[in-house]
Amino acid sequence: MNTIGTTGLVMNEPLIFERSSEGKRGIEVPKSDVGDIKPEDVIPADLLRADIEGFPEVSEVDVVRHFTRMSQWNYGVDTGMYPLGSCTMKYNPKVNEDIARLPGFSRIHPYQPEELSQGALQLMYELEQYLAEISGMDAVTLQPAAGAQGELCGMLMISAYFASKGRPRKKVIIPDTAHGTNPASVTLAGLTAIPVKSGSEGALTPEAVKAVMDEDTAGIMITNPNTLGLFERHIKEIADIVHEKGGFVYCDGANMNALLGAAKLGDMGVDVVHMNLHKTFSTPHGGGGPGSGPVGVKKELEPFLPVPRVIKKDETYSMDYKRPDSIGRLRAFYGNFGVLVRAYAYIRAMGAEGLKKAAQMAVLNANYVKENLKSHYHLPFDQPCMHECVFSDKLQFEKGFSTMDIAKRLMDYGFHPPTTYFPLVVHDAIMIEPTETEDKGTLDSFIDAMKRIAEEDPELVKGAPYNTKTKRLDEAKAARNPVLKWEKAEN
Ligand SMILES: *Cc1c(COP(=O)(O)O)cnc(C)c1O
Repeated sequence: MNTIGTTGLVMNEPLIFERSSEGKRGIEVPKSDVGDIKPEDVIPADLLRADIEGFPEVSEVDVVRHFTRMSQWNYGVDTGMYPLGSCTMKYNPKVNEDIARLPGFSRIHPYQPEELSQGALQLMYELEQYLAEISGMDAVTLQPAAGAQGELCGMLMISAYFASKGRPRKKVIIPDTAHGTNPASVTLAGLTAIPVKSGSEGALTPEAVKAVMDEDTAGIMITNPNTLGLFERHIKEIADIVHEKGGFVYCDGANMNALLGAAKLGDMGVDVVHMNLHKTFSTPHGGGGPGSGPVGVKKELEPFLPVPRVIKKDETYSMDYKRPDSIGRLRAFYGNFGVLVRAYAYIRAMGAEGLKKAAQMAVLNANYVKENLKSHYHLPFDQPCMHECVFSDKLQFEKGFSTMDIAKRLMDYGFHPPTTYFPLVVHDAIMIEPTETEDKGTLDSFIDAMKRIAEEDPELVKGAPYNTKTKRLDEAKAARNPVLKWEKAEN
């Protein structure tokens, strides 16, 4: 049955400690030619460790096979299509990796003097400008280490703005389609989230915003395209309502895949936006990082950007720390520099036309998947989508299986599952984002697998997955009581 994807050859692997055999060595260190010096003679006793109990003794081949086998248990975008909605799991061209590894970038130290870091500073300065151009903002900081930290940065700046005017505002309007990080960031910044419901068409209505916007409200936090993959077509009108009462429009631009080179958020009335380089700008993500969530602002908020700022004067780049209104530092040094290099390489390689083409292909691919699957899956908002589309399990639920079962079964066909149960406004959501990096052949295989699952015997689907290394985990228990040792009998 696995003609569609493949499950490959999955090898068992014990813990590295279990591979240990006394006396085995990975490398032979040459004999010292500086005489017989004992570690105690040159290193203070309190810094020396006694024997490490149970330290594995293994050969080079043991180590290489151990880690390579475990890496093969993993599924990544280098293995196959990764249709995880909201995450923009696009393929990352390997040239970005080569460039990030150039010694001038990879061996630079954050304490290196500015005159010896001109190339790195130039890269950061130019990347800020590219991102400002793409988003339609006046200035950008590269400091935030993730999208969520970018949101916090934006909220702190908005807060600082109102504090500087002597009239703090504490409320932020957030639509019910928002990513979970939005209300979390608002709360972390000491503000209060005011939820609003989106309209029957899946978009926020000006009336809903008008009803809650007042002069105690700092602004709105909106995602466009929203998490249903739909364009917020009233954004301009909503921005006008917020601006009229002196508030700011924050846009969650974590996924800009539909807008790149096609539309600027700044033109839609957005005042602050964060962009996830690890989503839209083709730097690897998943597995916990590192990420990067640059934040762009309009002029009014520029004084509040985090320190330091890269500045350019007479063809020389330097860091500006003297910014009295700044919200301060968000993290050590200047941001996740290696990620910035990858994003810079990607933008330069694509060029303006290439980025626009990527956005067009991302939208085309999502609509192709949506149109082909709507015969088999319930599509709550049947309208043209942007870079992702959202189905529900309504039709399958009637037959006896659910979103979770579909996600698990998809792994048997060799695909990573889509995002499930998000956004919350769609009951039992199945959120698919193919990205522009998948070709028609791969999309057709994915569509084929999804259709087959929709028609399969419910009992079969409910027992999935069958071809994976581990079967169904009790996810809550797995998080609280992790069993890190491979136990064949239990699986
Ligand atoms: C991914 C995402 C975020 C959070 O970004 P992180 O880098 O994971 O913190 C916020 N909003 C949306 C819409 C996202 O897709």
